Amino acid sequence: MNERGKAMRKPIIIIPGNLLTSYTEQFKGIPINYTPNGFVKALLRTNATPLILPISDEQRAKEYVEMADGVLLAGGQDVSPHLYHEEPHLKLGATSPERDTFETAIIKEAWSQKKPMLAVCRGFQLMNVVFGGNLYQDLEDVSTSIQHVQTTPIDKPVHSVKLSPGSWLSGVYGEEYRVNSVHHQGIKDLSENFRAVAWSKDGLVEGIESMDKDQKAIGLQWHPELMIDSDPIMQSLFDAFVELVNNDMKNRNVTPSV
Ligand code: MN
Repeated sequence: MNERGKAMRKPIIIIPGNLLTSYTEQFKGIPINYTPNGFVKALLRTNATPLILPISDEQRAKEYVEMADGVLLAGGQDVSPHLYHEEPHLKLGATSPERDTFETAIIKEAWSQKKPMLAVCRGFQLMNVVFGGNLYQDLEDVSTSIQHVQTTPIDKPVHSVKLSPGSWLSGVYGEEYRVNSVHHQGIKDLSENFRAVAWSKDGLVEGIESMDKDQKAIGLQWHPELMIDSDPIMQSLFDAFVELVNNDMKNRNVTPSV
């Protein structure tokens, strides 16, 4: 507590984790909870405290979000097409119904508790689906000549995105930037809760932001966490998100300690 009696602590950013269940030589089939370390590293470079969550039930999702100041959604499995009322496409990749259920609960809670949310790749796609949008189950269904599953190492940018002037993401990246790309799915119909703010040159939506100014929710299709060591602008995305969370904490009368 500081002299004015307000709670004072570093912003807590929760990261719903993934569960490794397949056999690997290292873990010998033991299920392992995990998240890509780039998210943790990027957040530790700010004044935030990252917390990785195990896949849990919906009641816990509510309690985790109550503890959190911000939410970061990571990449991973394909979103179950069942969630947008489609049958599985021949090219659908592995899905995790348990992760879908838990992260859906996290996203809805973050929205209703008005906690800032940054969603990457699968998280970006799931956030769109949770609020009524849908996906291309495989980008082969779209006429694109752009490679969205890059064969170049994943810490290298491959395709350009144009960003909407005045958007939050353009404050980080400017109006055009080159990003990495590791997705075979993409946003088809956009949820009415969001507006598109970034596109690749084939017209695919690569960035979205909440329509409601009081609701800080940002999603992006690329993987900034894999580029933080090769491109300082990718780290500055996380810096900007944590700054947004700090400001939100002040509005909620929690003083972030620097
Ligand atoms: Mn892409």
